[in-house]
Amino acid sequence: MTKSTPQSRKGMRARTKLVYAGREPSEQFGFVNTPIYRGSTVLFPDTASLEGRSSSRFRYGTYGTPTTEALEKAWSEISGAADTVLAPSGLAACCLAMLTALSSGDHVLVTDSAYGPTRSFCEHFLARMGIETTFYDPLAGANIEALFKPNTKAVLVEAPGSQTFEMQDIPAIAEVAHARDACVIMDNTWATPLFFPAHERGIDLSADAGTKYLSGHSDLLLGLVSANEKWAKRLRQTFQLFSNCAGPEDAWLALRGLRTMHLRLREAEKQGLALARWLENRPEVSRVLHPALESDPGHAIWKRDFLGSTGLFSAILKPASQQAVEAFLDGLELFGLGYSWGGYESLVIPFDCRSYRTATVWSPEGPALRFSVGLEDIEDLKADLDQGFARMRAQA
Ligand SMILES: *Cc1c(COP(=O)(O)O)cnc(C)c1O
Repeated sequence: MTKSTPQSRKGMRARTKLVYAGREPSEQFGFVNTPIYRGSTVLFPDTASLEGRSSSRFRYGTYGTPTTEALEKAWSEISGAADTVLAPSGLAACCLAMLTALSSGDHVLVTDSAYGPTRSFCEHFLARMGIETTFYDPLAGANIEALFKPNTKAVLVEAPGSQTFEMQDIPAIAEVAHARDACVIMDNTWATPLFFPAHERGIDLSADAGTKYLSGHSDLLLGLVSANEKWAKRLRQTFQLFSNCAGPEDAWLALRGLRTMHLRLREAEKQGLALARWLENRPEVSRVLHPALESDPGHAIWKRDFLGSTGLFSAILKPASQQAVEAFLDGLELFGLGYSWGGYESLVIPFDCRSYRTATVWSPEGPALRFSVGLEDIEDLKADLDQGFARMRAQA
């Protein structure tokens, strides 16, 4: 007999679940981890099984393999969800969640602070399918009620907001939406289910970019959508209709990342806060957008609803020329210039939301930068930025 995992993990804490969820050594000759199953065809023992007259666990590679099923089950367990499906990217997960809830002729409310490509999907694809989008102020809270139409079938929230980190009163928005029988969809990539238990807070469908902290190593693209009891069946059905499935290596790497996600998130939180506080005290910085800072306008909501913060935040500099900002960025040695985030290496990007936000006015007093803080020594990171500020001053 091979030792198996504890069968009931119900009362156990998240850290323990991360160790055990989605693996069963007794099914893998005692080996600790679920291996990579590659495959299209699944062979059936007889015609009755082939034709679905008797049940079989796996039917075809696009519907799932033991590797993808392991990740889906693990994610459902740590999310408190009824089911989870995988997607080949975080954006594909956001799109799948919206297409699960919406049909032609519907109206959807989307936060003005949503991830840019999610916004483009609404404007350039949902519009073509006859689905109308209204972008709303992320700070709307219960006042979102005024924007509902008879055909409003879903509300998309994202907290904190992409680039600008506004907090949203998610329980208040969910209450209004549910009173009108609308589906509440969240992009929960920043906090992950470990720091924001989305389904407990009223979310029906939660989309996550596993590309970020679940991977933690900038070496894969993956999305996950988890659903509560009410939306689970519709989610899996929509997933199967699209057949937009994730690759086996990416699912396996994500399972590997899952085991240490708690440690990496706690470190990201510590590093992120340390750097945010340091930046807040720099004369070149006007303000830091990070909901776990006491000075942040969203701090009270963050403290009420979230269990932690991560290593992604922004800073608004005091007015500076384009050349000064480029001198700062281009000479950095430890902060890479690149998209995505949540890896072990630090990144920075300049951003400007003025050209695409429609429900709110974005007019910062100076240049805006978004930081993703990695696992380097914090003193080295500060020294790198300190030298950057010196280059900036030399340009002024
Ligand atoms: C990166 C990101 C996504 C998309 O993830 P990809 O895997 O890069 O497609 C979605 N939402 C948020 C908030 C993100 O930061």
